[in-house]
Amino acid sequence: MQGLMMDVPLLIKSIVLHAELNHANQEVVSVTVDHPRHRYTYKDCFRRARQLAKSLDALGVPNGARIATVAWNDFRHLESYFGIACSGRVYHTINPRLFADQLVYIINHAEDEWIFTDVAFVPLLEGIAQQCPSVKGYVVMIGETHMPATTLPNVHCFETLLSAQSADYEWPDFNENTASGLCYTSGTTGNPKGALYSHRSTMLHTYAHSLPDVLNLSALDTILPVVPMFHVNAWGIPFSAPFIGLKLVMPGPKLSDPKVLVDLINQEGVTLGAGVPTVWSPVLQYVKDSGRSLKPMVRAGTGGSACPVSMMQEFRDEHGVEVQHAWGMTEMSPIGSANSPKPASMRLSQAEKDELFKSVGRPVPGVEVKIVDDAGKELPWDGIAFGSLMVRGYWVIREYYKPDRPGAAHDTDGWFETGDVATIDAEGFIRITDRTKDVIKSGGEWISSIELENAAVAHPAVAEAAVIGVYHPKWQERPLLLVVKTVGQEATKEELLHWFNGRVAKWWIPDDVVFIDAMPYTATGKISKLILREKIGDYQFPGSAV
Ligand code: ADP
Repeated sequence: MQGLMMDVPLLIKSIVLHAELNHANQEVVSVTVDHPRHRYTYKDCFRRARQLAKSLDALGVPNGARIATVAWNDFRHLESYFGIACSGRVYHTINPRLFADQLVYIINHAEDEWIFTDVAFVPLLEGIAQQCPSVKGYVVMIGETHMPATTLPNVHCFETLLSAQSADYEWPDFNENTASGLCYTSGTTGNPKGALYSHRSTMLHTYAHSLPDVLNLSALDTILPVVPMFHVNAWGIPFSAPFIGLKLVMPGPKLSDPKVLVDLINQEGVTLGAGVPTVWSPVLQYVKDSGRSLKPMVRAGTGGSACPVSMMQEFRDEHGVEVQHAWGMTEMSPIGSANSPKPASMRLSQAEKDELFKSVGRPVPGVEVKIVDDAGKELPWDGIAFGSLMVRGYWVIREYYKPDRPGAAHDTDGWFETGDVATIDAEGFIRITDRTKDVIKSGGEWISSIELENAAVAHPAVAEAAVIGVYHPKWQERPLLLVVKTVGQEATKEELLHWFNGRVAKWWIPDDVVFIDAMPYTATGKISKLILREKIGDYQFPGSAV
Protein backbone atom coordinates (compact mmCIF):
# COMPACT_ATOMS: atom_id res chain seq x y z
CA MET A 1 0.00 0.00 0.00
CA GLN A 2 1.39 3.40 -0.96
CA GLY A 3 1.16 6.48 1.23
CA LEU A 4 -0.97 9.30 -0.02
CA MET A 5 1.41 12.16 0.51
CA MET A 6 2.56 14.49 -2.24
CA ASP A 7 5.54 13.29 -4.19
CA VAL A 8 7.26 16.68 -4.52
CA PRO A 9 10.85 16.23 -5.74
CA LEU A 10 13.58 17.36 -3.34
CA LEU A 11 15.11 20.11 -5.48
CA ILE A 12 17.49 22.86 -4.39
CA LYS A 13 15.16 25.39 -6.05
CA SER A 14 12.87 24.88 -3.04
CA ILE A 15 15.48 26.74 -0.96
CA VAL A 16 15.33 29.63 -3.42
CA LEU A 17 11.54 29.72 -3.46
CA HIS A 18 11.32 29.50 0.33
CA ALA A 19 13.95 32.19 0.95
CA GLU A 20 12.47 34.57 -1.65
CA LEU A 21 9.15 34.52 0.17
CA ASN A 22 10.23 34.14 3.77
CA HIS A 23 13.68 35.66 4.08
CA ALA A 24 13.70 38.11 1.16
CA ASN A 25 15.14 40.98 3.19
CA GLN A 26 17.72 39.03 5.18
CA GLU A 27 21.24 40.31 4.51
CA VAL A 28 24.13 38.68 2.67
CA VAL A 29 27.45 40.42 3.29
CA SER A 30 30.67 39.69 1.38
CA VAL A 31 34.22 40.91 1.08
CA THR A 32 35.37 40.93 -2.57
CA VAL A 33 38.22 42.55 -4.46
CA ASP A 34 35.84 45.17 -5.88
CA HIS A 35 33.74 45.71 -2.72
CA PRO A 36 35.40 45.89 0.72
CA ARG A 37 31.95 45.21 2.25
CA HIS A 38 29.28 44.26 -0.30
CA ARG A 39 25.79 43.87 1.10
CA TYR A 40 22.48 42.91 -0.37
CA THR A 41 19.57 40.56 0.40
CA TYR A 42 18.53 37.03 -0.49
CA LYS A 43 15.94 38.62 -2.80
CA ASP A 44 18.76 40.30 -4.75
CA CYS A 45 20.84 37.12 -4.66
CA PHE A 46 18.17 34.92 -6.20
CA ARG A 47 17.10 37.55 -8.73
CA ARG A 48 20.69 37.50 -9.97
CA ALA A 49 20.81 33.68 -9.83
CA ARG A 50 17.86 33.69 -12.25
CA GLN A 51 19.70 36.15 -14.52
CA LEU A 52 22.68 33.82 -14.37
CA ALA A 53 20.56 30.81 -15.33
CA LYS A 54 19.27 32.76 -18.34
CA SER A 55 22.85 33.69 -19.27
CA LEU A 56 23.76 30.00 -19.29
CA ASP A 57 20.83 29.33 -21.63
CA ALA A 58 22.04 32.17 -23.85
CA LEU A 59 25.55 30.69 -23.90
CA GLY A 60 24.02 27.36 -24.97
CA VAL A 61 25.23 25.44 -21.91
CA PRO A 62 23.38 22.08 -21.94
CA ASN A 63 21.69 20.39 -18.98
CA GLY A 64 24.10 18.30 -16.93
CA ALA A 65 27.14 20.30 -18.12
CA ARG A 66 29.80 20.71 -15.47
CA ILE A 67 30.66 24.34 -14.78
CA ALA A 68 33.74 24.79 -12.63
CA THR A 69 34.01 27.56 -10.07
CA VAL A 70 37.43 28.70 -8.87
CA ALA A 71 36.45 31.28 -6.30
CA TRP A 72 36.42 32.45 -2.70
CA ASN A 73 33.30 32.71 -0.56
CA ASP A 74 31.31 35.68 -1.80
CA PHE A 75 27.96 36.70 -3.25
CA ARG A 76 28.83 35.88 -6.88
CA HIS A 77 29.96 32.40 -5.94
CA LEU A 78 26.71 31.95 -4.01
CA GLU A 79 24.65 33.08 -7.02
CA SER A 80 26.63 30.64 -9.17
CA TYR A 81 25.85 27.66 -6.92
CA PHE A 82 22.10 28.29 -7.29
CA GLY A 83 22.03 29.61 -10.87
CA ILE A 84 23.98 26.60 -12.11
CA ALA A 85 22.40 23.79 -10.04
CA CYS A 86 18.78 24.95 -10.08
CA SER A 87 18.84 25.35 -13.87
CA GLY A 88 19.90 21.71 -14.28
CA ARG A 89 23.67 22.11 -14.66
CA VAL A 90 26.34 20.93 -12.21
CA TYR A 91 28.62 23.34 -10.34
CA HIS A 92 32.07 21.91 -9.82
CA THR A 93 33.95 23.67 -7.04
CA ILE A 94 37.71 23.64 -7.49
CA ASN A 95 40.29 24.27 -4.80
CA PRO A 96 42.73 26.86 -6.21
CA ARG A 97 45.40 25.74 -3.76
CA LEU A 98 45.89 22.47 -5.64
CA PHE A 99 48.99 21.95 -7.74
CA ALA A 100 48.59 22.77 -11.45
CA ASP A 101 48.79 19.12 -12.53
CA GLN A 102 45.98 18.22 -10.09
CA LEU A 103 43.86 21.07 -11.42
CA VAL A 104 44.39 19.83 -14.97
CA TYR A 105 43.53 16.28 -13.92
CA ILE A 106 40.31 17.37 -12.17
CA ILE A 107 39.11 19.68 -14.96
CA ASN A 108 39.72 17.00 -17.60
CA HIS A 109 38.23 14.22 -15.50
CA ALA A 110 35.07 16.28 -14.84
CA GLU A 111 35.06 17.45 -18.50
CA ASP A 112 34.20 20.94 -17.35
CA GLU A 113 32.66 23.00 -20.16
CA TRP A 114 32.95 26.42 -18.55
CA ILE A 115 35.05 27.85 -15.76
CA PHE A 116 33.82 30.67 -13.53
CA THR A 117 36.78 32.29 -11.83
CA ASP A 118 37.75 35.10 -9.48
CA VAL A 119 40.15 37.66 -10.96
CA ALA A 120 42.92 36.38 -8.66
CA PHE A 121 42.95 32.96 -10.33
CA VAL A 122 43.05 34.16 -13.94
CA PRO A 123 46.89 33.78 -14.14
CA LEU A 124 46.63 30.28 -12.67
CA LEU A 125 44.07 29.28 -15.31
CA GLU A 126 46.04 30.96 -18.10
CA GLY A 127 48.89 28.63 -17.22
CA ILE A 128 46.82 25.48 -17.75
CA ALA A 129 44.16 26.52 -20.30
CA GLN A 130 46.00 24.79 -23.16
CA GLN A 131 45.77 21.49 -21.33
CA CYS A 132 42.01 21.68 -20.71
CA PRO A 133 40.37 20.92 -24.08
CA SER A 134 36.82 20.43 -22.73
CA VAL A 135 36.59 24.04 -21.54
CA LYS A 136 34.62 26.17 -24.03
CA GLY A 137 34.97 29.46 -22.20
CA TYR A 138 35.65 31.39 -19.02
CA VAL A 139 33.57 33.78 -16.93
CA VAL A 140 35.47 36.20 -14.69
CA MET A 141 33.36 36.92 -11.61
CA ILE A 142 33.75 40.71 -11.54
CA GLY A 143 32.37 43.90 -13.07
CA GLU A 144 33.50 45.34 -16.43
CA THR A 145 35.77 48.02 -14.89
CA HIS A 146 37.85 45.39 -13.07
CA MET A 147 38.12 42.93 -15.97
CA PRO A 148 41.78 41.90 -16.32
CA ALA A 149 43.65 41.68 -19.60
CA THR A 150 43.98 37.96 -20.23
CA THR A 151 45.11 35.35 -22.71
CA LEU A 152 42.22 33.02 -21.71
CA PRO A 153 40.08 32.12 -24.73
CA ASN A 154 36.38 33.09 -24.97
CA VAL A 155 36.28 35.19 -21.81
CA HIS A 156 33.12 36.83 -20.46
CA CYS A 157 32.52 39.28 -17.66
CA PHE A 158 30.08 37.98 -15.02
CA GLU A 159 28.34 41.31 -14.46
CA THR A 160 28.00 41.98 -18.19
CA LEU A 161 26.46 38.55 -18.75
CA LEU A 162 23.94 39.14 -15.98
CA SER A 163 23.02 42.64 -16.99
CA ALA A 164 22.07 41.40 -20.48
CA GLN A 165 19.31 39.21 -18.98
CA SER A 166 16.08 39.85 -17.16
CA ALA A 167 15.18 37.89 -13.99
CA ASP A 168 12.09 36.54 -15.70
CA TYR A 169 13.10 32.90 -15.40
CA GLU A 170 11.22 29.92 -14.03
CA TRP A 171 13.33 27.22 -12.44
CA PRO A 172 12.74 23.89 -14.21
CA ASP A 173 11.48 20.69 -12.58
CA PHE A 174 13.43 17.47 -12.87
CA ASN A 175 14.17 14.24 -11.02
CA GLU A 176 15.47 14.81 -7.49
CA ASN A 177 18.40 12.46 -8.10
CA THR A 178 19.76 14.82 -10.78
CA ALA A 179 23.37 15.83 -10.08
CA SER A 180 23.78 19.31 -8.59
CA GLY A 181 27.41 19.70 -7.52
CA LEU A 182 30.78 18.04 -7.83
CA CYS A 183 33.74 18.21 -5.45
CA TYR A 184 36.99 16.27 -5.61
CA THR A 185 38.81 14.98 -2.55
CA SER A 186 42.33 16.30 -2.21
CA GLY A 187 43.80 12.96 -3.24
CA THR A 188 46.59 12.65 -0.71
CA THR A 189 46.92 9.10 -2.05
CA GLY A 190 46.30 8.45 -5.75
CA ASN A 191 44.32 10.71 -8.06
CA PRO A 192 41.66 13.06 -6.69
CA LYS A 193 38.22 11.42 -6.63
CA GLY A 194 34.93 13.16 -7.37
CA ALA A 195 31.92 13.18 -5.04
CA LEU A 196 28.88 14.00 -7.20
CA TYR A 197 26.07 15.41 -5.05
CA SER A 198 22.42 15.30 -6.08
CA HIS A 199 19.54 17.69 -5.40
CA ARG A 200 18.01 15.06 -3.12
CA SER A 201 21.19 14.45 -1.09
CA THR A 202 21.81 18.20 -0.78
CA MET A 203 18.27 18.87 0.44
CA LEU A 204 18.32 16.08 3.01
CA HIS A 205 21.76 17.25 4.18
CA THR A 206 20.40 20.79 4.50
CA TYR A 207 17.58 19.63 6.77
CA ALA A 208 19.88 17.55 9.00
CA HIS A 209 22.64 20.14 9.10
CA SER A 210 20.32 22.74 10.64
CA LEU A 211 19.01 20.53 13.48
CA PRO A 212 19.44 21.66 17.11
CA ASP A 213 21.95 18.92 17.91
CA VAL A 214 23.92 19.57 14.72
CA LEU A 215 24.51 23.26 13.86
CA ASN A 216 21.39 24.47 15.69
CA LEU A 217 20.62 27.12 13.08
CA SER A 218 18.01 29.80 13.63
CA ALA A 219 16.86 32.85 11.68
CA LEU A 220 18.27 34.89 14.58
CA ASP A 221 21.82 33.72 13.81
CA THR A 222 24.48 35.39 11.72
CA ILE A 223 26.87 32.87 10.23
CA LEU A 224 30.43 33.32 8.97
CA PRO A 225 31.60 30.36 6.88
CA VAL A 226 35.39 30.59 6.94
CA VAL A 227 35.48 27.10 5.47
CA PRO A 228 35.80 27.71 1.72
CA MET A 229 32.95 27.11 -0.71
CA PHE A 230 35.40 24.98 -2.69
CA HIS A 231 35.73 22.60 0.26
CA VAL A 232 32.62 20.39 0.47
CA ASN A 233 30.19 23.24 -0.24
CA ALA A 234 31.47 25.20 2.76
CA TRP A 235 29.98 22.35 4.81
CA GLY A 236 26.52 23.04 3.33
CA ILE A 237 26.17 26.56 4.77
CA PRO A 238 25.35 28.20 1.40
CA PHE A 239 22.21 26.04 1.38
CA SER A 240 21.21 26.09 5.04
CA ALA A 241 21.72 29.86 5.42
CA PRO A 242 18.98 30.95 2.97
CA PHE A 243 16.85 27.94 3.94
CA ILE A 244 16.74 28.90 7.60
CA GLY A 245 17.05 32.62 6.92
CA LEU A 246 20.38 33.35 8.60
CA LYS A 247 22.33 36.49 7.88
CA LEU A 248 25.26 35.24 5.83
CA VAL A 249 28.70 36.88 6.08
CA MET A 250 31.41 35.76 3.66
CA PRO A 251 35.08 36.73 3.94
CA GLY A 252 36.00 36.45 0.23
CA PRO A 253 39.77 36.42 -0.31
CA LYS A 254 40.34 37.42 3.33
CA LEU A 255 39.57 34.05 4.88
CA SER A 256 43.10 33.72 6.25
CA ASP A 257 43.26 37.27 7.59
CA PRO A 258 42.42 37.18 11.32
CA LYS A 259 41.96 40.95 11.52
CA VAL A 260 39.33 40.98 8.79
CA LEU A 261 37.59 37.96 10.34
CA VAL A 262 37.47 39.68 13.74
CA ASP A 263 36.23 42.91 12.08
CA LEU A 264 33.45 40.93 10.40
CA ILE A 265 32.54 39.12 13.62
CA ASN A 266 32.21 42.37 15.57
CA GLN A 267 30.80 44.67 12.92
CA GLU A 268 28.31 42.24 11.41
CA GLY A 269 27.29 40.59 14.69
CA VAL A 270 28.43 37.08 13.77
CA THR A 271 26.97 34.59 16.25
CA LEU A 272 28.30 31.44 14.60
CA GLY A 273 31.57 30.88 12.76
CA ALA A 274 32.53 27.72 10.89
CA GLY A 275 36.05 26.66 10.02
CA VAL A 276 38.82 24.08 10.46
CA PRO A 277 40.92 24.41 13.65
CA THR A 278 43.83 25.90 11.68
CA VAL A 279 41.73 28.98 10.85
CA TRP A 280 40.72 29.49 14.46
CA SER A 281 44.27 29.39 15.95
CA PRO A 282 45.40 32.65 14.28
CA VAL A 283 42.06 34.28 15.14
CA LEU A 284 42.49 33.42 18.84
CA GLN A 285 46.12 34.57 18.73
CA TYR A 286 45.18 37.85 17.04
CA VAL A 287 42.45 38.54 19.60
CA LYS A 288 44.92 37.86 22.41
CA ASP A 289 47.61 40.12 20.91
CA SER A 290 45.31 42.97 19.92
CA GLY A 291 43.11 42.95 23.03
CA ARG A 292 40.02 42.82 20.82
CA SER A 293 37.04 40.57 21.54
CA LEU A 294 34.77 38.03 19.84
CA LYS A 295 31.81 39.42 21.73
CA PRO A 296 28.88 38.66 19.40
CA MET A 297 30.04 35.10 18.83
CA VAL A 298 28.14 32.38 20.65
CA ARG A 299 29.34 29.29 18.83
CA ALA A 300 32.26 28.18 16.67
CA GLY A 301 31.68 25.16 14.45
CA THR A 302 34.81 23.17 13.77
CA GLY A 303 35.68 19.99 11.92
CA GLY A 304 37.88 18.70 9.12
CA SER A 305 40.54 17.70 11.64
CA ALA A 306 40.61 17.14 15.39
CA CYS A 307 39.98 20.25 17.45
CA PRO A 308 42.39 20.41 20.41
CA VAL A 309 40.70 20.56 23.81
CA SER A 310 42.92 23.55 24.65
CA MET A 311 41.34 25.48 21.74
CA MET A 312 37.85 24.64 22.95
CA GLN A 313 38.81 25.78 26.47
CA GLU A 314 40.26 29.05 25.21
CA PHE A 315 37.09 29.78 23.22
CA ARG A 316 34.92 28.91 26.20
CA ASP A 317 36.91 30.42 29.05
CA GLU A 318 38.24 33.57 27.38
CA HIS A 319 35.40 34.41 25.02
CA GLY A 320 32.27 32.57 26.19
CA VAL A 321 32.11 30.78 22.82
CA GLU A 322 30.89 27.19 22.71
CA VAL A 323 32.75 25.00 20.20
CA GLN A 324 30.65 22.58 18.19
CA HIS A 325 32.97 19.75 17.15
CA ALA A 326 31.79 17.84 14.08
CA TRP A 327 33.15 15.19 11.79
CA GLY A 328 32.58 14.53 8.14
CA MET A 329 34.16 14.19 4.75
CA THR A 330 33.81 15.22 1.12
CA GLU A 331 32.15 11.88 0.39
CA MET A 332 29.51 12.65 3.07
CA SER A 333 28.43 16.13 1.89
CA PRO A 334 30.11 16.45 4.58
CA ILE A 335 28.27 16.00 7.90
CA GLY A 336 28.56 12.65 9.69
CA SER A 337 28.48 13.40 13.40
CA ALA A 338 28.27 16.30 15.80
CA ASN A 339 29.26 16.51 19.43
CA SER A 340 26.13 17.61 21.26
CA PRO A 341 25.37 16.51 24.80
CA LYS A 342 22.85 13.87 25.82
CA PRO A 343 21.11 13.88 29.23
CA ALA A 344 23.82 11.60 30.62
CA SER A 345 26.54 14.06 29.47
CA MET A 346 24.99 16.79 31.59
CA ARG A 347 25.68 14.79 34.75
CA LEU A 348 29.43 14.60 34.01
CA SER A 349 32.01 16.64 35.89
CA GLN A 350 33.68 19.52 34.00
CA ALA A 351 36.82 17.41 33.54
CA GLU A 352 34.76 14.54 32.12
CA LYS A 353 32.90 16.93 29.81
CA ASP A 354 36.23 18.27 28.54
CA GLU A 355 37.36 14.71 27.95
CA LEU A 356 34.15 13.97 26.02
CA PHE A 357 34.90 16.95 23.79
CA LYS A 358 37.61 14.83 22.16
CA SER A 359 34.81 12.81 20.64
CA VAL A 360 33.51 13.96 17.25
CA GLY A 361 30.06 13.30 18.64
CA ARG A 362 27.10 11.20 17.73
CA PRO A 363 25.89 10.19 14.27
CA VAL A 364 23.60 12.77 12.74
CA PRO A 365 20.15 11.27 12.06
CA GLY A 366 20.25 10.03 8.47
CA VAL A 367 23.76 8.60 8.80
CA GLU A 368 24.32 5.06 10.07
CA VAL A 369 27.76 4.19 11.42
CA LYS A 370 29.58 1.02 12.42
CA ILE A 371 33.15 -0.03 13.20
CA VAL A 372 34.62 -3.26 11.83
CA ASP A 373 37.85 -5.21 12.29
CA ASP A 374 40.24 -6.24 9.50
CA ALA A 375 38.00 -9.22 8.66
CA GLY A 376 34.95 -6.95 8.34
CA LYS A 377 33.41 -8.21 11.60
CA GLU A 378 31.36 -5.59 13.43
CA LEU A 379 32.89 -4.39 16.72
CA PRO A 380 31.03 -3.43 19.89
CA TRP A 381 30.10 0.13 20.87
CA ASP A 382 32.08 -0.01 24.12
CA GLY A 383 34.38 2.97 23.71
CA ILE A 384 37.38 0.61 23.66
CA ALA A 385 37.37 -1.46 20.47
CA PHE A 386 39.08 0.35 17.57
CA GLY A 387 37.89 -0.36 14.08
CA SER A 388 37.54 0.91 10.57
CA LEU A 389 34.64 3.37 10.51
CA MET A 390 31.95 2.59 7.95
CA VAL A 391 28.95 4.78 7.07
CA ARG A 392 25.72 4.61 5.12
CA GLY A 393 23.11 7.28 4.60
CA TYR A 394 21.10 9.75 2.53
CA TRP A 395 24.03 12.03 1.71
CA VAL A 396 26.90 9.51 1.51
CA ILE A 397 28.34 8.69 -1.92
CA ARG A 398 27.33 5.42 -3.55
CA GLU A 399 30.10 5.67 -6.13
CA TYR A 400 32.84 8.12 -7.10
CA TYR A 401 32.34 10.06 -10.33
CA LYS A 402 33.80 8.02 -13.22
CA PRO A 403 35.79 5.82 -10.81
CA ASP A 404 39.03 4.04 -11.70
CA ARG A 405 37.56 0.93 -10.10
CA PRO A 406 33.74 0.81 -10.25
CA GLY A 407 32.12 -0.48 -7.08
CA ALA A 408 35.19 0.24 -4.93
CA ALA A 409 33.42 2.94 -2.89
CA HIS A 410 31.24 0.52 -0.93
CA ASP A 411 31.22 -2.99 0.48
CA THR A 412 28.72 -5.66 -0.56
CA ASP A 413 26.15 -4.34 1.94
CA GLY A 414 26.44 -0.81 0.62
CA TRP A 415 28.55 0.68 3.43
CA PHE A 416 31.20 3.28 2.59
CA GLU A 417 34.61 2.88 4.22
CA THR A 418 35.64 6.29 5.55
CA GLY A 419 39.34 5.54 5.91
CA ASP A 420 39.11 6.60 9.57
CA VAL A 421 39.78 4.44 12.59
CA ALA A 422 37.45 5.02 15.52
CA THR A 423 35.91 3.81 18.76
CA ILE A 424 32.21 4.27 19.52
CA ASP A 425 30.91 4.27 23.09
CA ALA A 426 27.59 2.95 24.37
CA GLU A 427 25.99 6.40 23.99
CA GLY A 428 27.05 6.54 20.33
CA PHE A 429 29.91 9.01 20.83
CA ILE A 430 32.56 8.43 18.17
CA ARG A 431 36.26 9.05 18.71
CA ILE A 432 38.40 9.27 15.61
CA THR A 433 41.78 7.94 16.60
CA ASP A 434 43.47 8.15 13.22
CA ARG A 435 43.27 7.99 9.47
CA THR A 436 43.80 4.33 8.56
CA LYS A 437 47.07 5.27 6.92
CA ASP A 438 48.30 7.24 9.95
CA VAL A 439 47.68 4.58 12.59
CA ILE A 440 50.77 3.83 14.69
CA LYS A 441 51.18 0.15 15.46
CA SER A 442 53.52 -0.43 18.39
CA GLY A 443 54.11 -4.06 19.39
CA GLY A 444 50.86 -5.01 17.66
CA GLU A 445 48.80 -2.41 19.57
CA TRP A 446 47.37 0.80 18.12
CA ILE A 447 48.40 4.19 19.39
CA SER A 448 46.24 7.19 18.51
CA SER A 449 48.26 9.99 16.94
CA ILE A 450 45.29 12.37 17.35
CA GLU A 451 45.18 11.75 21.10
CA LEU A 452 48.90 12.48 21.41
CA GLU A 453 48.65 15.64 19.29
CA ASN A 454 45.78 16.83 21.44
CA ALA A 455 47.86 16.37 24.57
CA ALA A 456 50.92 18.05 23.02
CA VAL A 457 49.18 21.26 21.90
CA ALA A 458 47.89 21.80 25.42
CA HIS A 459 51.52 22.68 26.35
CA PRO A 460 51.99 26.47 26.16
CA ALA A 461 55.25 26.17 24.19
CA VAL A 462 53.64 24.03 21.49
CA ALA A 463 51.97 25.98 18.70
CA GLU A 464 51.40 22.97 16.46
CA ALA A 465 52.07 19.27 16.85
CA ALA A 466 51.97 16.19 14.68
CA VAL A 467 52.71 12.61 15.64
CA ILE A 468 53.78 10.00 13.11
CA GLY A 469 54.82 6.39 13.42
CA VAL A 470 58.51 5.71 12.75
CA TYR A 471 60.17 2.32 12.33
CA HIS A 472 61.49 0.80 15.54
CA PRO A 473 63.53 -2.42 15.56
CA LYS A 474 61.83 -3.82 18.65
CA TRP A 475 58.28 -2.42 18.55
CA GLN A 476 57.88 -2.22 14.76
CA GLU A 477 56.73 1.42 15.09
CA ARG A 478 56.91 4.06 17.78
CA PRO A 479 55.44 7.59 17.90
CA LEU A 480 57.63 10.55 16.97
CA LEU A 481 56.40 14.01 17.96
CA LEU A 482 57.05 16.91 15.60
CA VAL A 483 56.57 20.35 17.13
CA VAL A 484 56.40 23.94 15.96
CA LYS A 485 57.14 26.08 19.01
CA THR A 486 54.99 29.03 20.07
CA VAL A 487 56.78 32.30 19.31
CA GLY A 488 58.57 33.53 22.41
CA GLN A 489 58.18 30.26 24.32
CA GLU A 490 60.81 27.63 25.03
CA ALA A 491 60.66 23.95 25.98
CA THR A 492 63.17 21.16 25.80
CA LYS A 493 62.52 17.67 24.42
CA GLU A 494 62.64 16.30 27.94
CA GLU A 495 60.07 18.80 29.22
CA LEU A 496 57.69 17.97 26.41
CA LEU A 497 58.01 14.21 26.89
CA HIS A 498 57.50 14.65 30.62
CA TRP A 499 54.31 16.61 29.84
CA PHE A 500 52.63 13.42 28.58
CA ASN A 501 52.98 11.72 32.00
CA GLY A 502 49.51 11.21 33.38
CA ARG A 503 47.91 12.57 30.21
CA VAL A 504 48.20 9.42 28.07
CA ALA A 505 49.04 5.76 28.73
CA LYS A 506 52.74 5.43 29.55
CA TRP A 507 53.50 3.23 26.57
CA TRP A 508 51.91 5.79 24.22
CA ILE A 509 54.44 8.52 25.17
CA PRO A 510 56.45 9.42 22.04
CA ASP A 511 60.02 8.17 21.90
CA ASP A 512 61.43 11.45 20.67
CA VAL A 513 60.65 15.05 19.70
CA VAL A 514 61.81 16.87 16.59
CA PHE A 515 61.40 20.65 16.45
CA ILE A 516 60.52 22.09 13.03
CA ASP A 517 60.01 25.65 11.77
CA ALA A 518 56.62 25.15 10.14
CA MET A 519 54.08 22.43 9.51
CA PRO A 520 53.39 21.43 5.91
CA TYR A 521 49.71 21.67 4.96
CA THR A 522 47.52 19.93 2.41
CA ALA A 523 45.39 21.96 -0.01
CA THR A 524 42.49 21.67 2.44
CA GLY A 525 44.47 23.18 5.33
CA LYS A 526 45.30 19.97 7.19
CA ILE A 527 48.76 19.00 8.42
CA SER A 528 50.25 16.81 5.68
CA LYS A 529 51.73 13.74 7.33
CA LEU A 530 52.83 12.57 3.91
CA ILE A 531 55.15 15.56 3.51
CA LEU A 532 56.22 15.29 7.16
CA ARG A 533 57.29 11.69 6.57
CA GLU A 534 59.26 12.80 3.50
CA LYS A 535 60.77 15.64 5.55
CA ILE A 536 62.12 13.46 8.30
CA GLY A 537 63.46 11.02 5.69
CA ASP A 538 65.31 8.12 7.25
CA TYR A 539 65.14 9.48 10.79
CA GLN A 540 66.02 6.85 13.43
CA PHE A 541 65.17 6.97 17.12
CA PRO A 542 68.22 7.64 19.32
CA GLY A 543 69.86 4.32 20.12
CA SER A 544 67.78 2.36 17.63
CA ALA A 545 70.15 2.57 14.64
CA VAL A 546 70.51 -0.79 12.93
P1 ADP B 1 40.20 15.69 2.32
O1 ADP B 1 39.97 14.19 2.37
O2 ADP B 1 40.10 16.29 0.99
O3 ADP B 1 41.33 16.15 3.15
P2 ADP B 1 37.81 15.84 3.79
O4 ADP B 1 37.23 17.03 4.43
O5 ADP B 1 36.96 15.00 2.95
O6 ADP B 1 38.98 16.38 3.01
O7 ADP B 1 38.53 14.95 4.91
C1 ADP B 1 37.80 14.04 5.63
C2 ADP B 1 38.65 13.49 6.74
O8 ADP B 1 39.04 14.53 7.64
C3 ADP B 1 37.91 12.51 7.60
O9 ADP B 1 37.84 11.24 7.01
C4 ADP B 1 38.75 12.54 8.87
O10 ADP B 1 39.92 11.78 8.76
C5 ADP B 1 39.17 13.98 8.96
N1 ADP B 1 38.27 14.68 9.88
C6 ADP B 1 37.19 15.39 9.60
N2 ADP B 1 36.64 15.91 10.71
C7 ADP B 1 37.41 15.50 11.75
C8 ADP B 1 37.38 15.69 13.17
N3 ADP B 1 36.46 16.43 13.76
N4 ADP B 1 38.33 15.09 13.92
C9 ADP B 1 39.28 14.32 13.35
N5 ADP B 1 39.38 14.13 12.01
C10 ADP B 1 38.46 14.69 11.23
